[in-house]
Amino acid sequence: MDKPATNQSPQKPLTVAAARKLVIDSVAPVSGWESVAIRSALGRVLVRDVIAPFDVPAHDNSAMDGYAVRSSDLVSAEESRLMVVGTALAGSAFSGVVGAGQAVRVMTGAVLPRGADMVVVQEIVRAEGDAIAIPAGQKVGQNVRRAGEDLAKGRPALFAGKRLGAAELGLLASLGCAEVPVRRRLRVAFFSTGDELASIGRPLAPGEVYDSNRYTLHAALTKLGVELLDMGVIRDEPMALEQAFREAATQADVVLTTGGVSVGEADYVKAMMAKLGEVTFWKIDIKPGRPMAFGRIGSAWLCGLPGNPVAVMVAFYQIVVDALLKLMGVDPLPARPTFLVPCAEAIRKSPGRREFPRGCLTAEAGAWIVRLAGNQGSGVLRSMSEANCFIVLPEERGSVAPGDLVEIQPFDGLL
Ligand code: AMP
Ligand code: MG
Repeated sequence: MDKPATNQSPQKPLTVAAARKLVIDSVAPVSGWESVAIRSALGRVLVRDVIAPFDVPAHDNSAMDGYAVRSSDLVSAEESRLMVVGTALAGSAFSGVVGAGQAVRVMTGAVLPRGADMVVVQEIVRAEGDAIAIPAGQKVGQNVRRAGEDLAKGRPALFAGKRLGAAELGLLASLGCAEVPVRRRLRVAFFSTGDELASIGRPLAPGEVYDSNRYTLHAALTKLGVELLDMGVIRDEPMALEQAFREAATQADVVLTTGGVSVGEADYVKAMMAKLGEVTFWKIDIKPGRPMAFGRIGSAWLCGLPGNPVAVMVAFYQIVVDALLKLMGVDPLPARPTFLVPCAEAIRKSPGRREFPRGCLTAEAGAWIVRLAGNQGSGVLRSMSEANCFIVLPEERGSVAPGDLVEIQPFDGLL
């Protein structure tokens, strides 16, 4: 077989925003769903609204330990005296009705006894035998949690497109839902390319480096909760690459590769994607990581990420991750907040590309500042490990002087 040409017609690089939008707009949620037990639903995405089958809470109930009383019995300007006629505990209601001049002792979570419309906290009440004295200044409805104030019967408790986290699983349990309908898992195949790559577990030969990208992607994809198809290391060899792409594209919804996507002698990824399918773009005005190919083979989406380990992570987080979430059915996509903070040191930059140096956001003397996280080389993974945020330097921006405000994007919100 002929080796595919590596130098394709020049294409103007896309801005990060344009590339991101193009990838997100291209994809649509995968079809298919399953019903899973809520304990297994962490990270999964709801495929239908979940409707509350009853009010939560189901009854008006006390928000405090104290006494349930009738507001009409309280004299607003003076102390009021009432007779205690019973007790209501959480899970054990008072069966009678609170009559005029009466009060019922209630614990937090107890159903509000009939007749009562407010709760007076025990700390301010003076007990005198079977009677209590309540100070002036109480308000109608105080310390009562209303039926349905959390969720109203018949209304959506959660909407389709919601990715289920700890709060959602608890909420589903509060509705008595044992199982939820979730979209089928996204299938993502990934492999590394490069003749210099060794898999961990054997010694390095001269000139070799260990394949780290596959482990980074394995971790990032595992966190997303997708189904993984790890295809190992593929040599810089057109036949091997073609076979890997064909196999990956038939088995997965998305194929991620790293390396071999620039215009070096042994960079066949983009050309192979073009031969087997189509390439939508392959250059982005981003640093680190200018080369990144996006396209498809058959029904599978392809992302040819750069080879340098930091560039892989930057491209993954800035361009790919939200498209994966969209494919998983997440809607709306999560906000990606950024904040302006002073930069403690100078950063050299020429206008042109959008740059993502790695930063350490720290509180110093009560105010947040950001510093560069060590060596910023695109192969230096340590800068990703030591950092807790990206510093986002837009296209038009020049160098940063110490004290200048810069935009930072915390890593925490990224996955
Ligand atoms: P490439 O884009 O294939 O020319 O790779 C760019 C740089 O990233 C080279 O120094 C490669 O050795 C390095 N690289 C590529 N793939 C990996 C990988 N899977 N793990 C670690 N380094 C890699
Ligand atoms: Mg390579």
